[in-house]
Amino acid sequence: KTALVTGSTSGVGRGIAQALAVEGANIVLNGFGSPEEIEAAKGEVSAASGAEVRYSPADMTKPDEVADMIREAEREFGVVDVLVNNAGIQHVSPIEDFDDARWDAVIAINLSSNFHSIKTALPAMRRKGWGRIINVASVHGLVASAQKAAYVASKFGAIGLTKVVALETASSGITCNAICPGWVLTPLVAAQIQARADKSGQSFEAEKKALISEKMPSGEPATVEQIGALAVFLCSPAADQLTGASLPVDGGWIAQ
Ligand code: NAD
Repeated sequence: KTALVTGSTSGVGRGIAQALAVEGANIVLNGFGSPEEIEAAKGEVSAASGAEVRYSPADMTKPDEVADMIREAEREFGVVDVLVNNAGIQHVSPIEDFDDARWDAVIAINLSSNFHSIKTALPAMRRKGWGRIINVASVHGLVASAQKAAYVASKFGAIGLTKVVALETASSGITCNAICPGWVLTPLVAAQIQARADKSGQSFEAEKKALISEKMPSGEPATVEQIGALAVFLCSPAADQLTGASLPVDGGWIAQ
């Protein structure tokens, strides 16, 4: 099978790509990075299994590039069996000061790109009678936090989109689910911790502990390996009847 994972040059997406490669899937990587970083990601993923690994530089803010990325993967491999919409960005600001261009970028990458990729990938999945669509949303698609207007709106939207796609594909061999991580220590979160440390004068480690304990009763972040393992499970026959769900991996965050 072939899996395309958006935003997989780093963090959660890279962990998911790695986990699917270990199971033998061909992988299409996507995301930004220096040529060396992209080569490193490709090498790491292909070393995991010897599967074919391709890279698409498509920019998730550009609908044409999203659709072309899917079509190119279909030309190469016939069908994108597993589509993982993972690319995402964050912007933290009170709403009165929230930059308009940042709002547009967060909605485009975190939400609209999911719509464009699903719309393009579904016809080939339907022809094959099998498909897995996994949207990496967030606990912020289930509960809100202050100063994250665009992010929370985009992730609630991604969960709504997940449910609609699940209904429209029910009984076709295709499932669509959302994974909702709490904190996962990736560059996206490290940037938020560093911003807090710069503001408070505390160390990175102290701010990391404070940030995680504020929201996660477990006191521990989730790992990219744990998110990757859930993606693998969603692709297994055991998950054939699991669709339209939003699955938290959050150390109890939303149980409170
Ligand atoms: P990250 O910053 O490590 O990786 C983001 C990836 O998206 C990178 O590969 C980057 O190049 C890519 N990307 C960014 N803008 C892009 C664009 N315009 N076009 C194509 N690719 C683009 O972040 P992460 O923490 O791994 O986050 C991945 C996903 O997981 C996001 O959707 C995020 O919202 C979600 N998530 C993360 C956490 C967390 O704690 N890290 C928690 C909940 C949800």
